[in-house]
Amino acid sequence: MTNIQRVTVLGTGVLGSQIAYQTAFSGFEVVAYDINDEVLEKARTRFDGLASTYVADSVAGAADGKAQEALGRVRFSSDLADAVKDADLVIEAIPEILDLKKTTYAELGKLAPAHTIFATNSSTLLPSDIKDSTGRPDKFLALHFANQIWKFNTAEIMGTADTDPAVFDSVVEFASAIGMVPIPIHKEKAGYVLNSLLVPFLNAAAELAADGYAEPADVDNTWRIATGAPMGPFQILDVIGLTTPYNIMSHGDENTKRFAEWIKTEYIDKGYLGIATGRGFYTYTK
Ligand code: NAD
Repeated sequence: MTNIQRVTVLGTGVLGSQIAYQTAFSGFEVVAYDINDEVLEKARTRFDGLASTYVADSVAGAADGKAQEALGRVRFSSDLADAVKDADLVIEAIPEILDLKKTTYAELGKLAPAHTIFATNSSTLLPSDIKDSTGRPDKFLALHFANQIWKFNTAEIMGTADTDPAVFDSVVEFASAIGMVPIPIHKEKAGYVLNSLLVPFLNAAAELAADGYAEPADVDNTWRIATGAPMGPFQILDVIGLTTPYNIMSHGDENTKRFAEWIKTEYIDKGYLGIATGRGFYTYTK
């Protein structure tokens, strides 16, 4: 049982809308905050789309009215003070720009009740990069979801040295309460668990193909057959979409930059961006 009851999500983009909707779907009252009413209008459409997706993906209970009921538990607000006034937990999913996050937390720290916990969904920033701007480092940590959280339901929880262990534990309980598998991380690590494993794995696969050692399909075959894994690295890249891995690789060392260039010229420049475009390393039919 979690002591967190009222949740506010900042940002209604790709991840923020999923986090807010999944939380409402799990029975919590949620406030979805974004910068203005125009963005919130788009968010309503996004939330309606999620309700349909939950039904289409046969999420338990979705087709029996739960998907629609969840929409009734979401309140939209473009006024930050109003959005957070009753929050036990604020989950932040605004753009991955450090200065924007810091300014937002500075404002949030002044407006939210003293007991409110703040959690960032940041993928690449460490919570200690942000904690001082919150004004309450003991009540701040990272709660990191994966895209399509109703299917890929890990929630990586990572505090700083200042995070109160009781706060950490209550966020672990909350993550379970909204249907996630909580992954507690005991000290700060860029990339959390998942990306600490996945990024080197995908880089190794890119090296094999970009440097001409083996075809992508044969790399995938090797991985699937020899380990029993359901997908190989190039299938995973197609699911992620090639643009994000390209961006990550372009910021790496000389080798990873070379792999990024290969992905760009052979795939991205030809419009092969992954499953979303019907073609990436593989071709997909709807
Ligand atoms: P996005 O661009 O889709 O959405 C960002 C939203 O934040 C937009 O609706 C925007 O209007 C809003 N916003 C901008 N400034 C704001 C402010 N000051 N206050 C409140 N809202 C504001 O971004 P996203 O992909 O949802 O990513 C959000 C966060 O989630 C990032 O930190 C990212 O690292 C993390 N994340 C993303 C993914 C992913 O697959 N997209 C996965 C895990 C974590």
